[in-house]
Parts: sequence; structure tokens; C-alpha cells
Amino acid sequence: MRYRKLGVTGESVSTLAFGAMRLPHEPGDPESIIHEEAQDLVYRALALGVNLLDTAWNYHREKSEGFLGDILSPGERKRILLSTKLPCWMVETPDDASGFLDKQLKRLRTDWLDIYLLHGLNRRTWMKMRAAGIPEWGARMKEEGRIRLFGFSFHDSYETYTDVLSHMNWDLCLLMLNYVDTEYQAGLRGVLDAAAKGMGVMIMEPLRGGFLAGNLPKKVSECFRVTRHSPAALGLRWVWNIAGVSTVLSGMTTMAQLEENAALADSSPAGCLSPGELEAYKMAREAFLARAEIPCTQCEYCMPCPQGVAIPWCFNYYNYFTMHADLEQAKTLYGFIGERYGAHRCNRCGACLERCPRGLSIPDLLEKVHSTLG
Ligand code: SF4
Ligand code: SF4
Repeated sequence: MRYRKLGVTGESVSTLAFGAMRLPHEPGDPESIIHEEAQDLVYRALALGVNLLDTAWNYHREKSEGFLGDILSPGERKRILLSTKLPCWMVETPDDASGFLDKQLKRLRTDWLDIYLLHGLNRRTWMKMRAAGIPEWGARMKEEGRIRLFGFSFHDSYETYTDVLSHMNWDLCLLMLNYVDTEYQAGLRGVLDAAAKGMGVMIMEPLRGGFLAGNLPKKVSECFRVTRHSPAALGLRWVWNIAGVSTVLSGMTTMAQLEENAALADSSPAGCLSPGELEAYKMAREAFLARAEIPCTQCEYCMPCPQGVAIPWCFNYYNYFTMHADLEQAKTLYGFIGERYGAHRCNRCGACLERCPRGLSIPDLLEKVHSTLG
């Protein structure tokens, strides 16, 4: 296993981290983790040199943290970096945050967390967290020794990201990045900004929700003629190539995935890609983006929608469908938007139309999104 510095925290982290959000479970029931199989997977990851385990309050319908607490011996606990997250959408005050932290420490059977992240910050939750003084609460928890490193995971525009980044001296962040979405959310720019500040940078969605691990469209796979790697390997190697990335989180379900990813981590140091390979990724990105049917730039000028429709997300998942020709996976992702923010809530009020610099017929497109993915 390869290790990199976790920013200037003084920690050394395996370049492959284990995300405990896709553990083996009974079909259709994420709550029912198959204990023995999942335990074997985590123990094998540790044996392969993985030293960061990441979970969250809500993973596996709140069963993931307790599972890790059950299987980690006190010795193993001390040897690894254990990471979990504050469910910001359920927190209004510092007392709420303390209540969650207490319960999480109990579930994980530990007195401290190596890494604690504000989970899934977007503009709305960031405003709420900032007004409630949660960043300052996190700093106090560090002083009390309940948290060692404090940061955030993020899903919103680059502008919001820079606002979060400049608020305090964060230790680390967890950002989405893959070779297609270099300008989406915080993007590659955001990764480099955090690294320049000395923060540890953890990456999620290196395979774009699994899409980049499947069969690549013909025009995309033609771009990769110069390489011998599988689609999943292509996705992971592109992220590991970036020196500012500390580690890549992967939610692994099978032993085969774990073994393949660990072997790839071994052979993928920063700067592992040749100029020819980098050119191939550039062409592949363009080939993917040419397949996006809705020319939405994710600028979010159309937001907020009075009905709560998550307009850019709806368009993004529809484009996932056209780019990857994978209807089932796109439906699953669209399902995460949920009843409250889905395209079906649009009542054609028209408020978003004049705000869209691309002049998109947003209500018509939302209807198409919902009839395809709903
Ligand atoms: S037209 Fe639809 S999407 Fe646009 S602001 Fe109105 S309700 Fe929201
Ligand atoms: S304003 Fe237009 S281009 Fe920007 S996110 Fe909304 S729909 Fe997409």
C-alpha cells in the first residue's frame, strides 16, 4: 500500500481508504449488513495496509457506525484513522451537534474520532452551520480531545466552496472528483486550493457513482486505446495521479473490488500518468460531455426554486443517463433527490426562466427528466 501526507496534519494516510457505505447486505435491505462477510472485507482491507475507515451517521440506515464499533478491537482502533460525519441537515445548534457526537462515539465504541466532517455541506446547510457557530464548536471539540482533525464534505458550487474554505483553518475536506467532472462542484480547482492551504484532501466519487467502472461508450473507449487498463482502473489512476490528493475513498462491497483497488493503489503514485495518457483522458472527457443532452452548466443561477426543485441536480442525473446509457443507475441517483426536491414539483411558475443564462426551457426539460427517471 502507498501512503501520502494528510496535508500538514502530520498524519500519513493510505492512498486507498475504505468507505463503509456499501458493505455487503441482504438484498434490498441496506440495514441488514451481512456481518461476517463485511467483517472479512474490513479486516482484509486493514491487512492490505488501508489505514483510514470512513463512515457516517446515516450510512446503511444508521447501522454502519455500530458495525465498525462492533468489529474493531481496541488495538485496531488505535492503529487506524477513524472518520465519521455530523449530519448537518439534522443539526440546528451546538448542543444538537454535541448530542450526535456523543452518540457516534458510543456507536463506534471509542473516546475520540481521528476525523470528523460536517457532512455534505451545500449553500443552505453551510449558512445554517455558520450561523449556529458549528465550525467554532468543532474547534472546541478538538481542544477537548474528542476530535483530532476537523473538516467537511461538500456538494455545491465553487463559489460556496471558497466561502467555506476561507471561514477557518480546516484540517481536511472530502470532495467529489473524477476525470469527467473536473469543473463540477468544487472541481479540480477546489482540490488544488485545499492542497495549497495544507489541508488533507480526501476524494469521493472517483468513479462517478459507479458509471465510470462500467462499459464505456465506444467513442470514449476509443480515446483510451493507448492504455491497457480496465474502466475502473482508468478512473482511479486519474485521481491518484494528482499530487494534492491525499486519499481516495472507495465504498467496496466485494473482496475482488478490494483486491483490485489495493493493487491499483500500489502501482499508482502521484504523477503516474504519461503526457499521452493525460491527453487520452482529455479526449475522453470531451467525448463524454458531448453526450450530455441538456446543456446545463450547473451554474445554479436558476436557484432557489420556490417549489424546492433541485433543478441542476435533476439535469445532471438526466445527463448521466445520456452520457453513460445506464438508465437503472441514473434512476437510482435521481431517487436520492427525493420527493421534496424532485422535478415533479415544478408548477411552471416560470421564475427560473429569465435567470438561466443558457435560455433553457426548464419546466419542459424537468417534465422530460421526471418521465424518464421518475
Ligand atoms: S418553473 Fe418550475 S422549476 Fe422553475 S422556478 Fe417555477 S416551479 Fe421552480
Ligand atoms: S441556470 Fe440554467 S444552466 Fe444554470 S444551473 Fe440552472 S438550468 Fe443549469
